[in-house]
Amino acid sequence: MAEQPTVAVIGLGNMGFPLLSRLVDAGFPVRGFDVAPGAVERVAAIGATGCATAAEAVTGAGVVLLMLPNSAIVTAVVDELLGAGGDSGSALAPGTLLLDMSSSEPLATQALAERLAGHGIPLVDAPVSGGVKGAERGTLAIMAGGDSAEVDRAEVVLSVLGKVTRTGAVGSGHALKALNNLLSATHLWATSEVMIAGQRFGLDPEIMLAVFNAASGRSGSTDNKWPNFILPGGYDSGFGLRLMLKDMRIAQGLTESTGAYHRLADEAVAHWAEAAEALEPTADHTEVARWISDAASASEH
Ligand code: NAD
Repeated sequence: MAEQPTVAVIGLGNMGFPLLSRLVDAGFPVRGFDVAPGAVERVAAIGATGCATAAEAVTGAGVVLLMLPNSAIVTAVVDELLGAGGDSGSALAPGTLLLDMSSSEPLATQALAERLAGHGIPLVDAPVSGGVKGAERGTLAIMAGGDSAEVDRAEVVLSVLGKVTRTGAVGSGHALKALNNLLSATHLWATSEVMIAGQRFGLDPEIMLAVFNAASGRSGSTDNKWPNFILPGGYDSGFGLRLMLKDMRIAQGLTESTGAYHRLADEAVAHWAEAAEALEPTADHTEVARWISDAASASEH
């Protein structure tokens, strides 16, 4: 079995915490840091080392795993680490493997990789799909972009967390992840319109989903989101609506910059942005279905 490096996990939220927990269970020495109150104590309670700063967390780590909200925060954390060593320079030792598992912007990732290369630090982007449940179960779809020797090195950690697909050069994982979420969000909006229309017609929602899932209307929204988080009324997938919108905007930018056709992408982003504006900042992305239902009722009055 490959040697288990010490892993520093920075960002211990809905996804970072279960990722860290799986690494602890798999026997890795793990160090964790997050700015949120209580997060560090929570990881210390399950056998990781809770650290007071990001620089402390990365000290002695062979792999640094970032699970942060967006590229701006990823870049700020990395900049802090590069300058955190004071006179001695960077807190990140040359050769440390940086894994950005956040859903970041591909162009920002490429720029960061170039800068990090100047410090002798390889970057692999390894965003995921599969939600909090997938993180807990180690069944995430992981999209790994980067130098193939570095992705080889990352496998010892990533294979504990899910199934790795190599997507190409650094930044390619982040591009694919954003495109996936544009598709997923568009499916969820379309599925919600259809589910609400069917129920108003008198169809049983459980029967509708059973048929869609055995027919050509099937998607992650009919298979997972509607039956598990929307129909039961919990709206508790653990993936924020604003994070989804961030990913959609990254994908929209990608479609524009490549000159690809993006009419539906623009529509989808505008619809989701309207819902995000109306809902609480902390709203789960599945709440979009409730918002669509409420909007239909309101328009009748
Ligand atoms: P989250 O908001 O639950 O967690 C993010 C964590 O980062 C928070 O605990 C926050 O305190 C911490 N953080 C913010 N700034 C920090 C800093 N400067 N230093 C250290 N910690 C900092 O978000 P999440 O749902 O865990 O998502 C994380 C990333 O994974 C996002 O990019 C998201 O788009 C992506 N993602 C989420 C899901 C999901 O189902 N939740 C699925 C796939 C991908």
